[in-house]
Amino acid sequence: MSLPGWNPDDAVAATLSLLASISYAPQPGKFSILASISIVRLAPESTTPSIKVISLGTGSKCLPVDRLPLNGDALHDSHAEVLARRGAVRWLLEEVLRDADEPSEWIIKGLDGLFRLRPQVELCLYVSTVPCGDASTRLLASAQEPSVAALKDSTPWPILPPDAPSRGRDDYARLGVLRTKPGRADAPPVSSMACSDKIARWGVLGIQGALLSTVCHPVYLGAIVIGEVPESMRENVKIDCERAFWGRVGRLDAKQDGLPEGYRVSTPAVHLTSIPFTYSKVSLGGTASSSNDSLCWIAGSSSEVLINGLRRGVPPKHRAKEKFRPVLSKISFFTLYCSVMRALDKPLPSETTYYAAKEAVQQYQDAKMSLVGQGAPFSGWIRSGEKWESFDSIGTVRLALRDNQQ
Ligand SMILES: [Zn+2]
Repeated sequence: MSLPGWNPDDAVAATLSLLASISYAPQPGKFSILASISIVRLAPESTTPSIKVISLGTGSKCLPVDRLPLNGDALHDSHAEVLARRGAVRWLLEEVLRDADEPSEWIIKGLDGLFRLRPQVELCLYVSTVPCGDASTRLLASAQEPSVAALKDSTPWPILPPDAPSRGRDDYARLGVLRTKPGRADAPPVSSMACSDKIARWGVLGIQGALLSTVCHPVYLGAIVIGEVPESMRENVKIDCERAFWGRVGRLDAKQDGLPEGYRVSTPAVHLTSIPFTYSKVSLGGTASSSNDSLCWIAGSSSEVLINGLRRGVPPKHRAKEKFRPVLSKISFFTLYCSVMRALDKPLPSETTYYAAKEAVQQYQDAKMSLVGQGAPFSGWIRSGEKWESFDSIGTVRLALRDNQQ
């Protein structure tokens, strides 16, 4: 974060006071993880930046492969960081629509027709604990038996090339590698990548994703603030976060034929905060189990609670109705994206699937291949695949595609 006068704890305090104003708490006695994305702005002639939380998410669950829906109506990944990022993308889409009525304080449309953050505006991700995957591997190891704990002093740089993902918390000794989301050993497999890996990906491709990159330039995080790191582990965790979030993809910069114009390997500043989160595992005494539900909140827009990736309290017979779909689901995004394209008089991705619409965004796909393609730093990335994205903008699954894949 390059804004003078900015204090990382302000983003945490703003998030916690916002959460206190929302009538939500995790299930009694259960812990959760909290994440938010704030937009920080230094107004002209001001010495202190203002902070606005644009999205907030809680949760630590994700769906196993055998429960992923074909019509995009359930969230695959309900980890707090992922919800906060999806909420921020939705906020950006909605801000583009609002900008048509009244110019936005935060984003501005350039001569090329694409939006970007205004000068002196940056984004900050706050997470109440170290994100799962590579960033937290040594911290977790330090809480294990002594032989495993010895790893906390091990070299922070990867010994093996990061092209084969480890499952969850397996292979503690492998640092700098891709991992799938952690889960119990007896749980069905998941295909979602760990939050550390997703944060690293946002650091190269931006948080906006493929579709929104037809409307705005890549949007990068300026800072990442992380809670609940014991004093004794702070130095190691900071090294681990910097490796996990950008150190392991740094070589993209050096490649002649690297990233397309506008994309870069961003290096968000990592800060550790001492402000506790009331419903964290640490605050609840360490033995609590995790809450099954997830809060998703978006500034000026919506607040809803999910369970198993779907909105809590919606009977199965209403699940397919547009107004009951989670606002952060793939299909809800696709619908909103189409309204934004309509409002901007841009060509609509009608008669096509969500997957095909994303694939058609060439520059974004080129950037993605620089990161996850063959021989690239994240070539082991597990892609969710066409099978779960072969629905159109009204949520109809294109049967031919679906059947071919089964
Ligand atoms: Zn996670």
